[in-house]
Amino acid sequence: MNNVPSLASKSDVQTLSELRSRLAGPVFVPGDPGYDEERATFNLNTPLTPAVVVGAATAADVQHAVRFAAGNGLAVATRGGGHLQPRTGEGQLLLTLDRMTSVTVDPRASSVRITGSPRWGDITAAAGVHGLAAAHGSSPTVGAVGYLLGGGMSPVLGRPFGYASDHITSIDVVTADGHLRTVTATDDSDLFVALRGSRGNLGVVTGMEFGVFPVATVYGGGLWFAGERLAEVLPAWRDFAATLPDAATTSISVLRLPPLPEIPEPLRGSFTVHVRFTYVGPAADGERLLTPMRALGATVLDTIAEIPYAESGTVHNDPAFPLPYYDRSLGLRELSDATLAALLDLAGPDSGCPLVAVEIRPLGGALDRTPEVPDAVPSRGLPFQFFALGIGGPDTAPLLHSYLATCVDRLTPWADPRSMVNFVSPEEGRTPAELRAVYGADLYDRVVAVKEKYDPDNMFRINHNIVRV
Ligand SMILES: Cc1cc2nc3c(=O)[nH]c(=O)nc-3n(C[C@H](O)[C@H](O)[C@H](O)COP(=O)(O)OP(=O)(O)OC[C@H]3O[C@@H](n4cnc5c(N)ncnc54)[C@H](O)[C@@H]3O)c2cc1C
Repeated sequence: MNNVPSLASKSDVQTLSELRSRLAGPVFVPGDPGYDEERATFNLNTPLTPAVVVGAATAADVQHAVRFAAGNGLAVATRGGGHLQPRTGEGQLLLTLDRMTSVTVDPRASSVRITGSPRWGDITAAAGVHGLAAAHGSSPTVGAVGYLLGGGMSPVLGRPFGYASDHITSIDVVTADGHLRTVTATDDSDLFVALRGSRGNLGVVTGMEFGVFPVATVYGGGLWFAGERLAEVLPAWRDFAATLPDAATTSISVLRLPPLPEIPEPLRGSFTVHVRFTYVGPAADGERLLTPMRALGATVLDTIAEIPYAESGTVHNDPAFPLPYYDRSLGLRELSDATLAALLDLAGPDSGCPLVAVEIRPLGGALDRTPEVPDAVPSRGLPFQFFALGIGGPDTAPLLHSYLATCVDRLTPWADPRSMVNFVSPEEGRTPAELRAVYGADLYDRVVAVKEKYDPDNMFRINHNIVRV
């Protein structure tokens, strides 16, 4: 409970009791049982420290909370799956939407309607019953709304079908004036365009509808090579990735896994090169495409096989439990021999790298296509995304921050200013100018114009905040 401010004055308490009387869901202040569960984040190094938390049970609760915040001069944070909270929201109001979560699949329309705060695992299971697949990210524990509002790059369905945001058809959002709006390509279309890519900057999303795809199985999994073989695997993988059709996706991560009991043998405590691969199509075709990588010979582990789409979270095997970590990201315009040499220096066997994961994701395919209804996803056309992560609490921050910064500096000669919004770390996008570089000036300024129309007082600022430079 350290460093958590409270709304302690008499008038605040009265206002809070008035708020409580209007809500179907609970209100928590520091010290209340349940406060810590409500503000919990996936990254233990990015705690939320609000003065008040509203556990909304209905969209009307969200409206009351937003009006309460406006009346008390509070900023509003929203916690979905809790995977990316770059600011603490200290002394402000936090909304959680878990109590209003629902997932409804319309198999005839190939669409899903969600309310509240489902995690991708919930949606994948519900859609899978109908042989349908949602374009979720690498981890089933990520919140669907936070992911969809940040572009949403699926490592299985992204290259075949584009950014998940491109497939949103309708958004229910409570804006700073407390109004609940259903925005679409034709209703409040400026907000519809800007929301899909700008995350929590424009309001609190209470519900959404988006398209899903008739994909029941995929050919996919991982090849883990001994880390000592990085110099051999890296160029072979780069050349292999360049040959793949849009239906196939690969990425590579140099892993130094901790000896945690949650990590199965033979990976626990190992230094490996993890090549991920998925193919949406007949398994035999996927197997043929994979031939150059399998030709590299001995692996520590090979899990690539035909799997139900519902198990596609096993391709990356991201941790499902909260951890303390620091991360950095960078868009890359090329993977030249010189880029690979830098990666080898940074993450290879002789590097002394203290990071758990150093990853490259090639994008491309349908991720480069312009969607039917424009959105605010800035990374369209970006060829590669770099991401690195080190696990450790604040005592490790000097070492990990410094190494992560070294990685970014070393790769800067090949950097593209664009980056995947969902990968922009708490250390990045700290100023409007930095964020503007990520979005590109034109797109950023268009989102700013929408922000100034719907949130003129910047109530939704507990995030990578999009404001005029
Ligand atoms: C292990 C891991 C794997 C990942 N893999 C991928 C991947 O493959 N592809 C990819 O694109 N991204 C990936 N991400 C990034 C992830 O998509 C983003 O961090 C996403 O924003 C997390 O959403 P959340 O709801 O879980 O997080 P939260 O921290 O709850 O929310 C993140 C942001 O979204 C906003 N938000 C959440 N819910 C709402 C709402 N209802 N209304 C308004 N704003 C809201 C919040 O205000 C906040 O700004 C990954 C992240 C992790 C930690």
